Amino acid sequence: MQKGSIVYFVIFLTFILLISCSPKGSTEKENTSGLIKAGDQMLCPVDGSKMTVNQNTRFFTYNGKKYFVCCLECLNTVEKNPGKYLR
Ligand SMILES: [Zn+2]
Repeated sequence: MQKGSIVYFVIFLTFILLISCSPKGSTEKENTSGLIKAGDQMLCPVDGSKMTVNQNTRFFTYNGKKYFVCCLECLNTVEKNPGKYLR
């Protein structure tokens, strides 16, 4: 019997639904870890270019939050001066 793993799977699905249905007035997604999943589109905080997040998207952790950037160059830039680009 795999009853335990089914329960965990249901909890996991509920969690995903809660995240994707979170009632936010704004249509713009915040460029931080909590709200982002693969396939989401957002703007790079460094150069403002549009990007689609996937498993390979580079990110920088600042104040306990993950900020996704569009490329390695932007990652290097933000690492040098995170306060300039991130809130
Ligand atoms: Zn970039």
